[in-house]
Formats: sequence, C-alpha cells, structure tokens
Amino acid sequence: MSQDTQQVKTVVLVKCVDWRLHETAEEYIKQQLQSQYPDHLIKIYVLRVAGACKDLDDASKHASDIMGIAHDVEYMYLCNHLNCGAYASRVASEGLDAQGEEEMHRNEVARLKDIMQEKFPELNIISLIERLVNDAGAGMIELDI
Ligand SMILES: [Zn+2]
Repeated sequence: MSQDTQQVKTVVLVKCVDWRLHETAEEYIKQQLQSQYPDHLIKIYVLRVAGACKDLDDASKHASDIMGIAHDVEYMYLCNHLNCGAYASRVASEGLDAQGEEEMHRNEVARLKDIMQEKFPELNIISLIERLVNDAGAGMIELDI
C-alpha cells in the first residue's frame, strides 16, 4: 500500500522538554495504536512544553494550535514524568516523597485531561506517567492511567 492511500491515525502527544525522555512515549503510543490498527500509519505531533501538564494554559493553547492545523487528530496523549525539573520546587516545598510525587503527577494529568476533553470532546485522551530509568534518561512508561 502506498503512503498516499494508507489510512492514518493522528496523535498529539504532550510531553516535557526534558532531554532525558528520548522517544519512549512515542514508541509506546505507536506500539499501542499499531496493535489496534495494524494497517494504519501512526502519525504523532509532539508538543514539548516544560513540565508537560504543568502549565495548563500553555499546554492547552499550543494543543489548540495543532488541532487547528491537523484536522484529523483522533488521539491525545498527556505524558508527565517523574523527577521533572519543572515540578522540583513544588515537590520540595510540599515535602513530597516518591509516592506523593507520583500522586501529584496523576492529579496534574487528570486535570489537564478534563480541560482538554471539554475543549475537544471528540478526542480519545490517554494519560501517561513516565519514569526515568536513570539520570542518563531512557525513560519507561510504567503507568497508563
Ligand atoms: Zn520535565
């Protein structure tokens, strides 16, 4: 099948600018959607903002921009990651332990998901939390929430 006639599943991924994140989320999404739609090409627009879901206005504004250009978007993945620099001061000031930090990220992606779902009711929105294996990066998706 040629690229021109191949059906496409289009995704917007919101993730952090952290260089340690590599392509883990992209690969995870491709794998997940490819198993559901083996004949489709999976196209991912990656929106990288500091802290991913941290700045809700920023993330939703840029997502709206993408949605304005790409009319065929069906999926949106919101991916926060643990040990995120953008959240470091909040984690410190609230004295969060590892579990507390994880819970905070769950709440953050849930909050943005609600906002996005209201804005784009037609989208399938999936929340992810990525855990870095070590400081050199190579993240892994541990939670699909
Ligand atoms: Zn980050």
